[in-house]
Amino acid sequence: MTTTTAVPTPWAPFRAELEAQRTDCVGRRELALAEAVTSLPDAVALGRAATLLRTIEEIDAALARMDAGTYGSCVRCGSVIPPERLESRPFPAGCVSCQQTLSEG
Ligand SMILES: [Zn+2]
Repeated sequence: MTTTTAVPTPWAPFRAELEAQRTDCVGRRELALAEAVTSLPDAVALGRAATLLRTIEEIDAALARMDAGTYGSCVRCGSVIPPERLESRPFPAGCVSCQQTLSEG
């Protein structure tokens, strides 16, 4: 007997938050891109679009980790990311110390 029922995880609210933020980022990125093409080459709008794209990618990665069951753990050292950190920004790839290395790279 195959049990493919989704394992109840405590991440459901985080997933909803991630999906909401993703939708928001996609919308804001489209606006920024529209702005960048309608006006003169707009470095600010392009920069904003690039930042948003990076955020969208981080959110996608977080959602993928959620599916893989590794969400909430640092991708580098595997230590648990404190929930209060996830609440302020629900898609960090790493713990505080590793995230610095990750975002610098
Ligand atoms: Zn770490």
